[in-house]
This record gives sequence, C-alpha cells and structure tokens, in this order.
Amino acid sequence: RGSAERITAILGEVEALLGELEPELGRMDAVAGDGDHGQGMVLGIRAAQATAQRVTESGAGARTVLVQAGASWSAEAGGTSGALWGAALTSLGSAFADEEPVSDEQLLTGLVQAVEAVERLGRAKPGDKTMVDAAVPFREALADASGSAADAVVAAAAKATAAAEATADIAATMGRARNHGDKSVGTPDPGAISFSKIVTLLGEQLS
Ligand code: ADP
Ligand code: MG
Ligand code: MG
Repeated sequence: RGSAERITAILGEVEALLGELEPELGRMDAVAGDGDHGQGMVLGIRAAQATAQRVTESGAGARTVLVQAGASWSAEAGGTSGALWGAALTSLGSAFADEEPVSDEQLLTGLVQAVEAVERLGRAKPGDKTMVDAAVPFREALADASGSAADAVVAAAAKATAAAEATADIAATMGRARNHGDKSVGTPDPGAISFSKIVTLLGEQLS
C-alpha cells in the first residue's frame, strides 16, 4: 500500500479510538471547561478521515491527503482543539511529498513541525495545563531520537503520556479552563490526554 492509503487507515484507527474516549474526554473537560472536548475531537477526526479517504481515492499523495484532512478537521470540529489539531495535520503533511513514500526522516521532521505549529498558534507554554504540556516532551524526545521512526514515536509517546498524567497536579491558566483553573486540580487536561492517546496509537500503528 502507498503512504496515502496508510495515512487514511491510521486516521480510521484514530477515529475509532476517539469514539471510545469521547465520554471520558467530555467529563474531563466539564470539570473546568465546557465539556465538549470529546465531541470536538470526534467531529474533527471524522471529517479528517472522510476527506483523507476521498482525496486518497482521487489518486493524491501523502502530502495533499494530510494537508486537506487538516483543513477539514479545523472546519468541522470547532473549538480551540479543532484549530490546533487541524494545523498539526496540515503541518505534518507539509513535510511529505506527493510523489514518493514517506521516509522515516520526513515522518520525524513532520511530527516535530506539527507540534511547533500547535505551539505557535496556541501560544501556550508547558505548565499552562494544555495539550502543549504533552506535546513539547513528545517533540523533544523525537528531536533526540536515533533509530527507526516507529521506535522514536513509541518512546516519545511514553514521555507524552507521563506528562499528560502529570497535568492533574496543576491549575489551568490558558484556554477556557483558566476561568475555573483551581477546579481543574486533580483532573488531567483533556487535550493533553487526547494528545498522548493519539500519539501512543500512532506508535503502535507504525510498529
Ligand atoms: P474549547 O476549549 O474551545 O471548548 P476543546 O474542549 O475541544 O475546545 O479543547 C480544550 C483543550 O484545548 C484543552 O484541554 C487544552 O488542552 C487545549 N487548549 C486550550 N487552549 C490552548 C492553547 N492556547 N494552546 C494549546 N492548547 C490549548
Ligand atoms: Mg471544551
Ligand atoms: Mg467548546
């Protein structure tokens, strides 16, 4: 199978994962936010996967598939996380070419660029209790990686998971949850958790 087909299949797996996580992510977001994180992620991935499928069937390559999937995610998900995830997919795809299979090097570069896009757009810093708390340790671990992309993503996802769980200990200062920041202590940030679950799945899919 070509890279476009593989990307579309992985997005299908992410869609199934987020479907399972939807209630839990919603409950976490309801503690200090507006409770729609699960719903937003499901709407976003559904639109992204459908676009990836359609664009792949039209014969496009890896770059176009992800760039278009990212645009659909942003357009359909709504919410802060929708804009950030849309930008992440588009940045990831921008590291790929349509004419050739995705190399390990392109994949690692693309994942680093995807996190950088989230940091640039959202302007959150680690410690603000957002998805950036999980995404920055993920990016840093990838930048230090040697060996296969699959092994690097698995190792970096483990860092992201630990960092996402550690957000339970802090109060939110960014996003909607900042208004009720103290209430969020004891509950991890939903966006950090969804990020860590998605990159963990990605590591499994690549291995
Ligand atoms: P909304 O807050 O618009 O309802 P969601 O509930 O889907 O959107 O997403 C909330 C998540 O978005 C938070 O848990 C946090 O991880 C993430 N988030 C909020 N603001 C920012 C930001 N400025 N930068 C990065 N991530 C952010
Ligand atoms: Mg919300
Ligand atoms: Mg909302």
